[in-house]
Amino acid sequence: MSSSTGAPAATPAGAVHTLPSYLQADHLGPWGNYLQQVDRVTPYLGSLARWVETLKRPKRILIVDVPIELDNGTIAHYEGYRVQHNLSRGPGKGGVRFHQDVTLSEVMALSAWMSVKNAAVNVPYGGAKGGIRVDPKKLSMGELERLTRRYTSEIGLLIGPSKDIPAPDVNTNGQIMAWMMDTYSMNVGATATGVVTGKPVDLGGSLGRVEATGRGVYTVGVEAAKLTGLALEGARVAVQGFGNVGGIAAKLFAEAGAKVVAVQDHTGTIFNGQGLDVPALLAHVKTRGGVGGFAGADVMKAEEFWAVDCEILIPAALEGQITKDNAGQIKAKLVIEGANGPTTTEADDILHDKGVLVLPDVIANAGGVTVSYFEWVQDFSSFFWSEDEINARLVRIMQEAFAGIWQVAQEHKVSLRTATFIVACKRILHAREMRGLYP
Ligand code: NAD
Repeated sequence: MSSSTGAPAATPAGAVHTLPSYLQADHLGPWGNYLQQVDRVTPYLGSLARWVETLKRPKRILIVDVPIELDNGTIAHYEGYRVQHNLSRGPGKGGVRFHQDVTLSEVMALSAWMSVKNAAVNVPYGGAKGGIRVDPKKLSMGELERLTRRYTSEIGLLIGPSKDIPAPDVNTNGQIMAWMMDTYSMNVGATATGVVTGKPVDLGGSLGRVEATGRGVYTVGVEAAKLTGLALEGARVAVQGFGNVGGIAAKLFAEAGAKVVAVQDHTGTIFNGQGLDVPALLAHVKTRGGVGGFAGADVMKAEEFWAVDCEILIPAALEGQITKDNAGQIKAKLVIEGANGPTTTEADDILHDKGVLVLPDVIANAGGVTVSYFEWVQDFSSFFWSEDEINARLVRIMQEAFAGIWQVAQEHKVSLRTATFIVACKRILHAREMRGLYP
């Protein structure tokens, strides 16, 4: 509903109920996908449904111009974002993505999924996310450093150890977190290790952080396998994305006796029915930048990946990969979402109707933020834990969160995604309600 001037219509009481244009789900982009997920959970929120609009609007959106001097002397401008979706339960928390396809819709959705994820595992954070629309592979190290530092200064208005704490995401890593930490520290005049997580261990990073998301994916996979009677020994696994999340998850499943039969990344799709040699593939990716050209496998057509015979499918690359066009071909019994938002709502329904169990991103990949939380706690106390302690605490939190979500799914006869949203959105909105509105 809009007035003749094109301005949003107001209710008689004067409250604006029409969403601003950039928040509307007029396309099936990631933000539209997220809004559909919120709509599905609303009937289960009881009296808290009164607050549900809070979840449909990010609290703050910052769009920044990031200019840098390239090595050839020209000046390049990149578009950067930091979105704080919800801060009801604590400071903002969420990664920073460097990718040529980053959009505001994507960063908004990723920030919202962080709110849900942090509440699902009950770490005391709100949700945030950042990104720059850039192909970092085309930049030199010097250009990448200048880009990171300028972006950090530009979003310095919002971030801080008790305000909003970035972390790595696609194409960002410990080195980039070290530059972000240094830039923020220079700007505030004090070393502030707690401003980012995912830092190198020598700079206040946590042991186990690099492996944490993949370990969390594996942990919930083991729990779901137990509950559904799926034997991991000999189970065939297909993985899309062989970076931080997919690579570690594949390694842990292979160590547990599963066979990783197919892997797809941005350089190609490979297959070996006997099971790929995962340590050799990890070494290949480290030197060659992708799975393409790996000797111990056959090459497959990209579109054949989704129809691979397997018991477990792990999308661990980008969002919007499992769609209505390929969901019907999926043969896996279990889909474990390592990536954020890899399944569209339509595809979710197709998988549900086929009896495929989907472990949703908002719980399946929460291992990363859980150990980020441990890192932040360790930075504040300047007291560091052993890797065994970290892994044990991570596994306990993931198992307990998953068990609670499983129970809610059984109780309401809903998918695990809706169950996770029920648990998480109730926590967020309950916090919102207790805090009340200011003024
Ligand atoms: P990464 O940069 O380490 O790896 C990304 C992988 O995706 C690479 O193997 C790349 O080749 C592959 N890829 C990129 N484009 C592709 C395409 N078009 N088709 C197939 N493969 C493609 O990133 P990551 O940290 O492993 O993140 C992967 C996903 O997991 C993202 O959705 C991210 O948001 C999510 N995630 C990451 C973490 C974390 O701690 N790193 C935590 C939670 C969620």
